Amino acid sequence: MDVDAPRPAEPGLIDRFGRQAIDLRVSLTDRCNLRCTYCMPAEGLPWLPNSDVLTDDEVIRLVRIAVERLGVREVRFTGGEPLIRPGLTKIVTEVALLEPRPTTSLTTNGIGLEKTAAALRDAGLDRVNVSLDTLDEDRFATLTRRRRLPDVLAGLRAAADAGLTPVKINTVLMRGVNDDEAPALLAFALEHGYQLRFIEQMPLDAQHGWDRATMVTAEEILRDLQAAFTLLPDPVARGGAPAETWLVDGHTAVGGGPARVGVIGTVTRPFCGDCDRTRLTADGQVRACLFATEESDLRAALRGGADDEELARRWRVAMWGKRAGHGIDDPSFLQPVRPMSAIGG
Ligand code: SAM
Ligand code: SF4
Repeated sequence: MDVDAPRPAEPGLIDRFGRQAIDLRVSLTDRCNLRCTYCMPAEGLPWLPNSDVLTDDEVIRLVRIAVERLGVREVRFTGGEPLIRPGLTKIVTEVALLEPRPTTSLTTNGIGLEKTAAALRDAGLDRVNVSLDTLDEDRFATLTRRRRLPDVLAGLRAAADAGLTPVKINTVLMRGVNDDEAPALLAFALEHGYQLRFIEQMPLDAQHGWDRATMVTAEEILRDLQAAFTLLPDPVARGGAPAETWLVDGHTAVGGGPARVGVIGTVTRPFCGDCDRTRLTADGQVRACLFATEESDLRAALRGGADDEELARRWRVAMWGKRAGHGIDDPSFLQPVRPMSAIGG
């Protein structure tokens, strides 16, 4: 691989390692109504000033460029907490009208979803991922520093009722907090027809409290699940998806077919070689990776009067520079300055 080779004149978001980004993660805000301990401190963070955050029309324009000129096929809205962005429904509506129509999804903590799920579905949202780390109210309060578990459970139900399916659940396990809950969470997900995926905790918290030595690994999660369920290899190819999935023997998914469970082993089983993502922060910076230390400022170019093709060109250049991997295991690894909530998870 000649990593110094010049970029070929391809319209898509290719990089020097042969990957193409077709999956765009758009952060709509860095703010949040929870304070998950693995994400941010109790007091919150110094939020971006409103004037730095892209307006609804700016977000829509950049997503349109990504879809029309750069080959993006999937758009996921995230944050911070995307449901607290007032313009969310408008943004979803406009993005779902783009041609070719991208698939649209939302990663949310679920608070407020009970009231908004049907409207978001009507606006053109295809799917949701709801984050849920525990089924115990006290643990939920310890983990998120808010007593909101019933709201999240109601949000999950509303998402399923609205047809935002498959409804996926994202779970982070933390040692000594909820690391004994994997089988119970899977039983809950199977009972309700949600698709559960465990995510290894990553060094992206604002407090820099992540510790590799105490992280709950994909291997441990699988061992605990296998003690309670029979997991079979999934015959469906993983493609660019981050989750390794297993079929849960004897269980059926809602709508038919086998039930699945996933594990996203970002740290111990990296999937960087197949990564197909590009990221746009709430303040209009393109990031090639969650762990990137460089950003490309599309907001300044956009507000400076750049036309669509110039913005597309800058986005291509940013992605061409994507690194081969996240390098968490490299002694020179540096945690990005932006925490997860400000990048968009
Ligand atoms: N607020 C929304 C939510 O919680 O789903 C969207 C943003 S949140 C940053 C996106 C996902 O990142 C959530 O599933 C959350 O659990 C996960 N996350 C946050 N910090 C993490 C960390 N340090 N390691 C692994 N996952 C993390
Ligand atoms: Fe908020 Fe999501 Fe971070 Fe939790 S993980 S504090 S819900 S942004």
